[in-house]
Amino acid sequence: MTTFYLDMDGVVADFDRAAELLIGRPRNTTDGRWDPADWQRIRNNQHWFRNLPKMQGSDQLVDLARQFRDQHAWRLLFLTAIPRDNDFPWAFWDKILWAQEHYPDIPVHFGPYSEDKQTHCQPGDLLVDDRRDNCQQWHDQGGIAVKVNDNSLDEALVKVRALLSTARSASG
Ligand SMILES: [Mg+2]
Repeated sequence: MTTFYLDMDGVVADFDRAAELLIGRPRNTTDGRWDPADWQRIRNNQHWFRNLPKMQGSDQLVDLARQFRDQHAWRLLFLTAIPRDNDFPWAFWDKILWAQEHYPDIPVHFGPYSEDKQTHCQPGDLLVDDRRDNCQQWHDQGGIAVKVNDNSLDEALVKVRALLSTARSASG
């Protein structure tokens, strides 16, 4: 069975916007790593992942993903990761609660770490993710990856819609 995997942070949950509101400016990153002081401020909110706002357009993206599931018999799952230092003991619980509040029909699987996401990939599986390394690793495992750019779902929506029409013609 082919699976449609949706990343959570930066795909359905707007981590960056919440961080910007907290810190008062856009994230300060070097090679995708957080500034330690900024990360500490986020870490002071141990229920951070429970309270993230939805991404703009996430409902449309999830509705497209549901069409793969409901019309083409794909599985549909969230595939998320916990922070690399495992410094949010509530992350598993809060991410599941978040998903249950907003998209209760979609179960949550965990990498558990970001670099483990690729181990979930079977050839042909689809991943929507905002991290370049996750998308590259997914591709290397024989999957199809749609990368979310600049914290906006606009491009990803176009690409997933195109893949849906391909799936449609493949299944007749
Ligand atoms: Mg992400």
